[in-house]
Amino acid sequence: MALIEHLTQEYLRTKKLPHIWCPGCGNGIVTAALIRAIERTGYDQRDVVIVSGIGCSSRAAGYLNFNTLHTTHGRALAFATGLKMARPELKLFVIMGDGDCSAIGGNHFIHAARRNIDLNAVIINNHIYGMTGGQHSPLTPTGMKATTAPRGTLERPFDLLVLARGAGATFAARGIAAQPRQLEQLIVRGATHKGFSVVEALSPCPIAYGRRNKLGGAVEMLRSMKDSSISVERAAETEDAELKDKTITGVIYSFDAPEYAEEYYRSISDNKG
Ligand code: SF4
Repeated sequence: MALIEHLTQEYLRTKKLPHIWCPGCGNGIVTAALIRAIERTGYDQRDVVIVSGIGCSSRAAGYLNFNTLHTTHGRALAFATGLKMARPELKLFVIMGDGDCSAIGGNHFIHAARRNIDLNAVIINNHIYGMTGGQHSPLTPTGMKATTAPRGTLERPFDLLVLARGAGATFAARGIAAQPRQLEQLIVRGATHKGFSVVEALSPCPIAYGRRNKLGGAVEMLRSMKDSSISVERAAETEDAELKDKTITGVIYSFDAPEYAEEYYRSISDNKG
């Protein structure tokens, strides 16, 4: 209890509460995992910046007691890139939703990955645009209903982490709101990795997504999320056919490459010499 009190008083703007999220929304679980992860890194609160775009999940920036930027739809990574280039010592966490990151902000996402700039992207994937009315996103599974796909979307979703790998990201992990401790660990791993890190956090939206698709309430959605997930270690020992409908969680890949801001400042100093 004392720990919860400490985390709440230290890292939340309690005057901004209560939050606007619907009962059962997973955004609070992911935000709490992020808070615990930042605490575990030991970063000075004054050096941490939370940048977000627009959407239900992006409201988290308003509640978090760090330096925060609540920016425009899809552009959180662009703002974060500018800030990182100006103040490379800062620790930036960029919270985005699936639509915000993969559709409107898709270009910013692939170029942040390509540069391998040291930003920590936390993408809360609830498979829908919640705040703007329940439209389907590039990560909505085929056949699922949305206001823009009343009979089920015909589009195929892409795997955000595969896209990130192709674009050059050097760290990618996936966690689920149903396993918040693992999610916390993954955010710590991403935060301490040098370069562009991507942590995809699957999260239930029982209102705009679950209700329309008859997935039950938050408890049922979290249970089904847990039942359909498999760790990357177990997945490595499982036949491909059995993985078809599974969500693979854990660190999907991690490797080293030059980090953009560091390279930039090194090139300036080399040219001066
Ligand atoms: S619409 Fe969905 S994502 Fe948005 S606050 Fe409600 S439950 Fe959460």
